[in-house]
Amino acid sequence: MKTSLFAIALGLITSVATLAPAPLVAAEAGRENKIDETSQFIFHSVLEGLYEDGLTNDDVAQILMRREKESYFHFIYACPVCNATIWALEAYQSRPAAFYGLKLGGSTFGGGLSKELHDQLYSQEPAQRLTAINALVKSWIERRMKRLRLSADEQKALVKQLELKREEGMKMLESFRKKEHGENFGVSQAAPAYADLTECAVCNAAAGRPMKLPEQPPKQGK
Ligand SMILES: [Zn+2]
Repeated sequence: MKTSLFAIALGLITSVATLAPAPLVAAEAGRENKIDETSQFIFHSVLEGLYEDGLTNDDVAQILMRREKESYFHFIYACPVCNATIWALEAYQSRPAAFYGLKLGGSTFGGGLSKELHDQLYSQEPAQRLTAINALVKSWIERRMKRLRLSADEQKALVKQLELKREEGMKMLESFRKKEHGENFGVSQAAPAYADLTECAVCNAAAGRPMKLPEQPPKQGK
């Protein structure tokens, strides 16, 4: 009896320590979730923020910005934080044009970006756009974290996981930047906005950090 009570107590502690409640049904064999909870947290934070702030599809296209033979302009290829953010942006972008049964039309909630953020996101200067993206993602992550009402220990654990993913992203960026310009899949293809930068706007946002711009202004008009 004692053992079983202990096992139940341990089970409760384990379930409290994770972000997601236990699923209602056991996963089918071969269909277990392979996406870790921290990536899911980033995904949900971004998706929720996009709906809540009511970004337009043009805004999302501007954030994603993809040119021929390049990965997403403002993101780092294979960075775990960037990837989870891209999944949410793509999911939001492919939502229906109108909510079912709503005569008013539209399929989002918020009123759109402030003029200040809008101007920054549509700037010709990549560093300005990255600053806007950093501000958006940072506020979305902070909002969801607050809503989860985590205990101090749970919040500490989540922040640590986000920091670890950020470090992975930094390593990816560093390896792309080490490659010569023009070399196959160097920084100009794998992380086009980051030729002059050492920190990822999105990774910094996830870890609660502001955008880090270079001391010397980067080349214009990329
Ligand atoms: Zn990143």
